[in-house]
Amino acid sequence: MAAAIRRAQLSTENLQACQSEILHLQLSLKEMDMRYHVEKQRRRELHNTLVELKGNIRVHCRIRPLLPLDCELDDPILQNGSDSREVAHAVDEETILVRCDRPGHPLINKTYNFERVYGPAEPQTAVFADVCPLLTSLLDGYNVCIMAYGQTGSGKSYTMLGPELPSDAHSDLGLIPRAVEEFFRLISENPSGSPKVDVSILEIYNNDIFDLLAKDSSTVVSGVKRDVVTTQDGCTEVPLLTRGAITSVLEFMELFHQGLRLRAKNPTLVHADSSRSHLIVTVTLTTATSLASTDQQPGQTLPGKRTRASERWSSAHQASPPGSVPVDPVGSRKQVWSRLQLVDLAGSECAGMSGVTGLALRETSFINRSLAALADVLGALSEHRGHIPYRNSKLTHLLQDSIGGDAKLLVILCVSPGQKHVAETLQSLGFGTRARQVKRGQARKKSPHSQIREWCLGSA
Ligand code: ADP
Ligand code: MG
Repeated sequence: MAAAIRRAQLSTENLQACQSEILHLQLSLKEMDMRYHVEKQRRRELHNTLVELKGNIRVHCRIRPLLPLDCELDDPILQNGSDSREVAHAVDEETILVRCDRPGHPLINKTYNFERVYGPAEPQTAVFADVCPLLTSLLDGYNVCIMAYGQTGSGKSYTMLGPELPSDAHSDLGLIPRAVEEFFRLISENPSGSPKVDVSILEIYNNDIFDLLAKDSSTVVSGVKRDVVTTQDGCTEVPLLTRGAITSVLEFMELFHQGLRLRAKNPTLVHADSSRSHLIVTVTLTTATSLASTDQQPGQTLPGKRTRASERWSSAHQASPPGSVPVDPVGSRKQVWSRLQLVDLAGSECAGMSGVTGLALRETSFINRSLAALADVLGALSEHRGHIPYRNSKLTHLLQDSIGGDAKLLVILCVSPGQKHVAETLQSLGFGTRARQVKRGQARKKSPHSQIREWCLGSA
């Protein structure tokens, strides 16, 4: 009997010990969770500091795999399946080597450094992993712009949009759908400030801007021509641009595919379904901040710490065009916002290379002029010239706030590895090298306090 009581006592003691252990573990889990959140916040802040110290324009370079389109029909080496005509190589994660030794041509043996170099085998997920932290910056109050640059067929659209043929594989998705998916995930983590998201999709074709979400009177999406203007406070905007309100990545994809169906395309010899326009997708996040919170002292945290950057939100000032997707009306004095711009540029090859004539030659010449204007703007910025020629093309005028303003700008250089494209590859790498030299000062994150004050004054 005594032994049974003793055993019961021992069991109770064991149970109590277990309970106390569980309590202890629960407490340490809670503490770890708190520490994790503090560390996560610190990591985010450190990341932002690092990115700013590195300079605003970051350049990544992606070498796509060798494809049949890289082969010259009469090239016996390629026909034999050898890759000896591959001239662009990722030496390490930051270095690309272009080595080309052709009989009768001077030897090319050049290396270039960028913030990140992706080899042909690196998947879409690897490219997105490096872009992801930029999206975090977006929710911290920065504007972000990501653009793909390179000759036709070098993988810009693959990188930004995904493969041309619809693919069920999530792993094939390009940066644009991934970025929007991540954007909504981040918002769901911090839903304060009633976040609203809208999207606009436009293309610049032959130096004209087309609104790819605008609908005509019969509500058919028709790609209406728009203009770009500079507002009194020096910001660029496209009046009457359609902004579709979205609440999920699925809604985004619907509008995105709708817009893409209108994008101008024309076959060239380089790439059978080449995009001949610059595509610009803009996702704007607007959050409400009560006017009362503007009375907070600097340093105090506002709910939903997002801030507007340099752009004016045109829908706040004017009615949406007929047929546009309605955008939720806003009480202008309480809105703060940040903007994500995703740009798939048209091909940067020279006309002779593409073998185009007539109308297509005209397209190519507009493309080359706008890309030359982009290079001129970067050159003027890197030399700190007084006048930056943004207005020389619609592309640079439209992207003025992102290139020279306070956005974090990432240029993804896309290059073909084949010998056939070596001249265009060197041109793209030269462009990227110049872009890296641009130091625009730190990306600016305005405090919600000053920002709302400015907004009130600006819209008074
Ligand atoms: P661009 O937009 O620069 O003209 P695309 O993105 O259309 O070029 O790419 C040209 C071709 O190469 C397409 O068939 C595309 O699917 C393929 N491609 C490009 N990059 C890759 C890659 N990283 N992996 C596999 N295929 C690719
Ligand atoms: Mg393309």
